[in-house]
Amino acid sequence: MRPINCPLCEQDQTRQVEQKARHGLTVTTVLCQGCGLVYHNPVIEDQDRLALGLSPRQLHTNEPINPRHQRRVQRRTAYQFDFLHPWVRPDQQGLEVGAGLGLLSSTLQQHGVQMLGVEPDPQQAAYACQQVLASSRVGLKKSS
Ligand SMILES: [Zn+2]
Repeated sequence: MRPINCPLCEQDQTRQVEQKARHGLTVTTVLCQGCGLVYHNPVIEDQDRLALGLSPRQLHTNEPINPRHQRRVQRRTAYQFDFLHPWVRPDQQGLEVGAGLGLLSSTLQQHGVQMLGVEPDPQQAAYACQQVLASSRVGLKKSS
């Protein structure tokens, strides 16, 4: 695990949002005071995860995508949106790195933000695409 400055604006002024113990790692989530990005700091690197024998998805949860897991993610999404709300405007574009189930991207999209989510876990990425498409008012353009 390695402490980093904000990956977007490179400032180092953050506010802790949440801290949890996961599989022997302390996962700290922070909010950048400069740009509003929410990210893990210190960052959990692949070698940290691989040393514990965990996939990206298993680092965050050991459960399959089920209604209980989805409800928990929805509660967390509502909590995250409360923090982001002051910065959200309908004319913005957003990038969510580690989009998971896509619920935050979906919520922001419902508030008019054009979202791009990146998720390395194929199962969650497939679910996120379905979720964001289902909530989209503008649709997605597929490149040819
Ligand atoms: Zn920032």
